[in-house]
Amino acid sequence: MRPSPKPAAPEHRSAASKINPVKPITYTRGQALPDLLKQRILIIDGAMGTMIQRHKLSEADYRGSRFADHPRDLKGNNELLQFTRPDVIESIHRAYLEAGADLIETNTFGATSVAQDDYGLAAYAREMNVQAARLAVRAARDYSTPERPRFVAGALGPTPRTASISPDVNDPGARNVHFDELRAAYREQAEGLLEGGVDLFLVETIFDTLNAKAAIFALDELMQDSGERLPVILSGTVTDASGRILSGQTVGAFWHSVRHARPLAVGLNCALGAALMRPYIEELSKLADDTFISCYPNAGLPNPMSETGFDETPEVTAGLLEEFARSGFLNVAGGCCGTTPEHIAAIAQAVSPYKPRCCGAFGLPRAA
Ligand SMILES: [Zn+2]
Repeated sequence: MRPSPKPAAPEHRSAASKINPVKPITYTRGQALPDLLKQRILIIDGAMGTMIQRHKLSEADYRGSRFADHPRDLKGNNELLQFTRPDVIESIHRAYLEAGADLIETNTFGATSVAQDDYGLAAYAREMNVQAARLAVRAARDYSTPERPRFVAGALGPTPRTASISPDVNDPGARNVHFDELRAAYREQAEGLLEGGVDLFLVETIFDTLNAKAAIFALDELMQDSGERLPVILSGTVTDASGRILSGQTVGAFWHSVRHARPLAVGLNCALGAALMRPYIEELSKLADDTFISCYPNAGLPNPMSETGFDETPEVTAGLLEEFARSGFLNVAGGCCGTTPEHIAAIAQAVSPYKPRCCGAFGLPRAA
């Protein structure tokens, strides 16, 4: 009998890496980021929603005078607050900058026409992004110094509709959104963010890779048309114990589906907290050997009885991320749902003694 064929040789990966161009990307904004990421673990801010909850805003707060007569309920539409309570949004940005965030996210997770359609506010999507970017940029500039620059990441969320999963259990082929609609919605969002002055883009909480690809495509088109080139961070979310994102890919498959975008960093956020994310961030940090790694988990598992909706104290989340940093997985660390400025300050302190990833076995990222 002939011996069975050997599994694919490990050199397969490095061979594939060699095919890719190694020419560094020249960014027109956020140019300092690649060098900073080699020097230390950068800190990204925590949850916007958790902080908005603390303000206990009413339906009237969300509406303001501008949307007083809008026919649908608006409470919970956090992106509307850039118009009606900009003071709240800007104060949250400042709290995270004060806590030590190098990167803050715009309040635009749901500011696409696709997501805003649920409130009958799709027509305001572009303006929401411009305004959100301006609020974040103003706060970041106030805290920036030559020694310690701060950056604004324009956040692009997954939208409530998915291009590769059916909303109807009886019809697996049904879709309530298509690639081109998502591409157009992300293009509009990104144009607003660019106009408002963001330094980089962050495609986050990716649970459907096809939605993320629509965002990547829109960003590429926009950058080609505008002549701007901004760093892009791509962040997926693993929500089940088999280590797959909702649309079915493992983190390795996800990385290979998006690496053509040559992101500044790829990573994981949200989901079930840091403890359950560990094997996946480890896997990604080994696989994605030509880019930086970001990680900003939720404050553990959801708990409706807790004030923030999540259980982990700042010490617990920071302790888990410290272990990731010690293991050499991290270039960007922060928090997602349930994390607060107290969590971010604790994380910043916990990871500060450790060198960022990429100075060891996997070499320096070539994207930089
Ligand atoms: Zn989250």
